[in-house]
Amino acid sequence: MYRCAKCQRVTTARSSAHSVVSDIRPREYTHRANAIPVAGGKRRKRAKRDDRGGRGWEIRSEILVCTDCLPEAQSELNAKIEALTASA
Ligand SMILES: [Zn+2]
Repeated sequence: MYRCAKCQRVTTARSSAHSVVSDIRPREYTHRANAIPVAGGKRRKRAKRDDRGGRGWEIRSEILVCTDCLPEAQSELNAKIEALTASA
């Protein structure tokens, strides 16, 4: 049993909970030289690759919702992603 974060109702026992991302933030990862060790080369010094960096998302918060509120919560997340990609 749990309380749904959207409708605030306490669910019945053994009903499934859905964890939905409720807030995200954009994140930029910088290029890092020699950051990733490459397997192999026991005798010689182990080779390293560069992390090429890039951009992505970080989860800011997650909520537990009931099955009834799941579509609504997912569409809210999609709207948030669209708003962030439009402004970037
Ligand atoms: Zn609910």
